[in-house]
Amino acid sequence: MDKIKMTTPLVEMDGDEMTRILWKMIKDELILPFVDLKTEYYDLGLPEREKTKDAVTHAAAEANKKYGVAVKCATITPNKQRVEEYNLTEMWKSPNGTIRAALDGTVFRAPIIIDSIKPVVKNWKKPITIARHAYGDVYKATELRVPEGKAELVFTDRDGNETRETVYDFECGGVLQAQYNKDSSIRSFAHSCFKYALDTKQDLWFSTKDTISKKYDQTFKLIFEEIYESDYKKAFEEAGIEYFYTLIDDAVARVIRSEGGYIWACKNYDGDVMSDMVSTAFGSLAMMTSVLVSPDGKYEYEAAHGTVTRHYYRYLKGEETSTNPMATIFAWTGALAKRGELDNLPELVSFAKKLESACIKTLDDGIMTKDLSGLVSEGVSVKSVNSSEFIKAIHTNLEATI
Ligand code: NAP
Ligand code: MG
Repeated sequence: MDKIKMTTPLVEMDGDEMTRILWKMIKDELILPFVDLKTEYYDLGLPEREKTKDAVTHAAAEANKKYGVAVKCATITPNKQRVEEYNLTEMWKSPNGTIRAALDGTVFRAPIIIDSIKPVVKNWKKPITIARHAYGDVYKATELRVPEGKAELVFTDRDGNETRETVYDFECGGVLQAQYNKDSSIRSFAHSCFKYALDTKQDLWFSTKDTISKKYDQTFKLIFEEIYESDYKKAFEEAGIEYFYTLIDDAVARVIRSEGGYIWACKNYDGDVMSDMVSTAFGSLAMMTSVLVSPDGKYEYEAAHGTVTRHYYRYLKGEETSTNPMATIFAWTGALAKRGELDNLPELVSFAKKLESACIKTLDDGIMTKDLSGLVSEGVSVKSVNSSEFIKAIHTNLEATI
């Protein structure tokens, strides 16, 4: 059989610990036998980041900007304990943070759904994708604890003109917080959301609290509206999808009553909270995919989970591990399908879909890693396997369709 050809390289970002082990298994068993894989490889494993003083992460982000599509393995974000464990000369920044900053992108998270695992919300039938604006607001706020006295908000423009508003005249001690966001960042967020909705042919919902926050949240609402009207309305109508704005509390009620199948764009804090609620209700972190989309249409695909450190330490001791590779496999299929679409390679797109179907079939047959076996509905018979057996079973199913 001829392997499927590629034209433009995928940017491949390797990572750490258990997911690094899975990365190699996935490539060897599920990709390389079928695809004449072209990648530009960047090792973002912590030892290489240390060796290059993190230059490798910046180079990988630049390559993502240049070629447009990347697939990334989970990586360690160093903390104090990791600095000791890996003998680091510096507490290197989160690679995801570096890449997100370089691409100015928005992260979209969607669950992989299978029949035998029912969401906690029983009417949810299709994935709900959360788009979180990962910039500013309470995450970049300035806070004070204050005694009695007057709090004011002061803004000085470039000509030195002051605008001053009383926040509160405190008759007792209290707390204060100042938040900000930038039009440029909100615009990027809006473009990424509209683009991704068109890409995936799903409705886009956006929610804020603009009735209460008449300038701050109102700005988000107006920028989305303006960009929709000027740049996307026609394309949305042609694609048969809808842009829909509503208040955050109304959105929460509608989401619970819905059957899924749309993108829910959220401000930074709302997205932080709602993505954990939605992903938990759908089942497992190991089944959550994640893609970073830049406003000018660059993509970085990954799993939403981390490097699964606890399993890695067991693996190092020679113990058998049953780590779920689904989200990492779907990072590969997402990236290959996007590369195929951009380069007009229908065979590559079709391979990615076949690999996804082979994964779903394996799970539907009851063959799964341990994290999932506890979640399946009663009456479904299950065979718990280790990571390598699971990937081999997918290989067999895939081969049968090629
Ligand atoms: P984690 O790697 O997501 O794992 C947390 C726990 O969730 C695991 O111990 C495991 O539970 C379960 N789990 C997650 N993914 C799984 C999978 N594929 N299959 C089976 N079980 C899975 O989070 P963490 O332990 O907090 O973080 C570990 C490292 O990952 C940290 O150094 C962190 O910096 C990094 N991290 C990276 C990214 C990224 O690169 N995108 C994201 C998050 C965290 P049990 O142990 O109970 O089986
Ligand atoms: Mg959170």
